[in-house]
Amino acid sequence: MTKLTNASGIPYFDYEDSLSAGPRGPLLLEDFILHEKMAHFNRERIPERVVHAKGSGAFGAFRVTNDITRYTKAALFSDIGKQTRVVVRFSTVGGEKGSADTERDPRGFAVKFYTEEGNWDVVGNNTPVFFIKDPKKFSDFIHTQKRDPYTNCKSATMTWDFYSLNPETLHQVLILMSDRGTPYGYRHMHGFGSHTFSMLNQANELHYVKFHFKTQQGIANFSAEEAHQMKADDPDFSQRDLVTAIDNNNYPRWTLYIQVMTPETASSQLFNPFDLTKTWSQKEFPLIEVGVMELNENAENYFAEIEQAAFSPSHIVNGIGFSPDKMLQGRILSYPDAQRHRLGVNFEQIPVNRCPFQVNNYHRDGQMRIDGNGGKRPNYFPNSFDDIRPDEASKRPAEVLASNIADRFDRNAAPRENDHFTQPGVLFREVMNEEAKNNLISNIVSAMQGIEGPKKEEIIDRQLCHFFRADFKLGMAVARGLQVQLDESRLAQHRP
Ligand code: NDP
Repeated sequence: MTKLTNASGIPYFDYEDSLSAGPRGPLLLEDFILHEKMAHFNRERIPERVVHAKGSGAFGAFRVTNDITRYTKAALFSDIGKQTRVVVRFSTVGGEKGSADTERDPRGFAVKFYTEEGNWDVVGNNTPVFFIKDPKKFSDFIHTQKRDPYTNCKSATMTWDFYSLNPETLHQVLILMSDRGTPYGYRHMHGFGSHTFSMLNQANELHYVKFHFKTQQGIANFSAEEAHQMKADDPDFSQRDLVTAIDNNNYPRWTLYIQVMTPETASSQLFNPFDLTKTWSQKEFPLIEVGVMELNENAENYFAEIEQAAFSPSHIVNGIGFSPDKMLQGRILSYPDAQRHRLGVNFEQIPVNRCPFQVNNYHRDGQMRIDGNGGKRPNYFPNSFDDIRPDEASKRPAEVLASNIADRFDRNAAPRENDHFTQPGVLFREVMNEEAKNNLISNIVSAMQGIEGPKKEEIIDRQLCHFFRADFKLGMAVARGLQVQLDESRLAQHRP
C-alpha cells in the first residue's frame, strides 16, 4: 500500500470529507488539507504561450547518416551513426490552448537536441518562410490572428487588412492557403528551421545554412472541408494521432537536410538570403542529407514534459551560429524572455529543459531554484577557489557582416528587398499542380469572403494586386471567385 499524504508528506486519513461543525457544516478553518487542495487547484494553470499555445510532443533520437564536418564542428554531427536524444514539440500558432488541431494555421516544429555541448534548439515551423521579416512587426501581426478587441471573435477583416498592407506576407499566405495549411496531423508534414543560420567548422570557416526536416511518412493534408469537419469530430486529432502512433510502435521519422551558402555567395544573391520571407532555391542550393530523427517515446506526463518544454533559438551550440536574419535576431531575445515569464527565471532547471551534461555558471537564486543553487561554491567570477573557466574552444570569430551605420532601414525600400512576388509566383506556377492550384484558389476565396465592414472593398482590392503581381492567372481566379468586377483599365495594370 502507498500512503496518501499532503504536499509536505504528512499522511492523512481523510481526503474527501471536509472538517465541519456537525454533519451539515459550516466548515472549520482548521482543515489545512482542504485549503491545500483548493489553493493548489487554483494555481494549476500557468500562462499559456501567447503563440503556439496548443501543442503536442514526444521524445526520440537523432542519428547522423552523412558527414557534414566540413561545415560544422558541432559535436552532435561528429560521427556517422552518432545518436543524440531529442524532444520535439509541434503546435498550431494562433489558437488558444483549447483550440482545434486542424485549424488552417502554420504548425510549430521545435526540436531540442540534448547534445554533450549543451542543448541546441531548432525552433521552426512546417513552412520554410514566415509572414514578416522584421520582429518589430510581430505583435501587430499576431494580434490580427487573435481576436477582434470589440467582438472578441476571430476576424478575416483584420487578417486580410494586415496581409494586404504588408505584401511581404504573400509567400507565407500562399503556402498557408494551400492544402499544406491544414496538414493531416503532425507526422505528415515537413519541418523547417526557416531562418538562415550559420555553421563553423574546425578551421572556423563560416557557411550559412537552412535546416529542412523532411517527413518520411509522406506529405498528407486535410482538404478544407475535412479539416473543418475534424474540428467537430476530434479537435485533438493531431495530439491523438501522434500519441497513438508512438504507442503502436509506429515511430514517425524525418530526414534532416541542410542547404549551404558561402558568405561570398550570400553577398552576391539577387535576393536577401537572410530574409525570412524567402527560400533558397533547392536547384541552386541542393539539399544535403545529415541524418534521421525518430520519435519513439511519448511523454509520461504531458504538463511536465511537453507543456513545460521551453525552446529558444538562442540555444545554440559550438559549431552552429546565428545570421543577420532580423527575425532570428528578435527571437533570440523574445523566446527566453517568454519562458522566464511563463515558467520562471529558473526554467532551464525543469527536467525536460535541463542539459543532461554539464551546467556551470554563477546564476544564483530566483523563484523555484531547485538544483542546490551552486551549494557552497563561489557565486562570482573570477574567483580564487573553483576551477570553472571560459571554454576557449567554443570562441566564435566575429561575424563581420554588420555595416557601421545604425538606422531603422525601411525593410522594403532597398533594391532587392521589395520583391515579394517572384517566389510566390514560382510556387504557384512551377511547384503546384492543377489540383493544388484549384484548392489554393478556393481556400483563398472562402477565407476572403469573411472580410466585412466599410473597408471591405479597399482590402480586397489591395490584396488582389498582390496576387496579380505574383501571377496574373492567380489574381484573375481569386477576383472571379470573389465576383470582383475588374474594368479594362484596371486589368491592363495587372497584365504581365
Ligand atoms: P524546387 O522545385 O526545387 O522545390 C520546391 C519545394 O516546394 C519542394 O521542397 C516541395 O516540397 C515544396 N512544395 C511543393 N508543394 C508545396 C506547397 N503547396 N506549399 C509549399 N511547398 C510546396 O524549387 P525551388 O527550391 O526553386 O523553390 C520554388 C518554390 O517552392 C519557392 O519559391 C517556394 O515558394 C517553394 N518552396 C521552396 C522551398 C525551398 O527550400 N527552396 C521549400 C518549400 C517550398 P516537397 O518536398 O513536399 O515536394
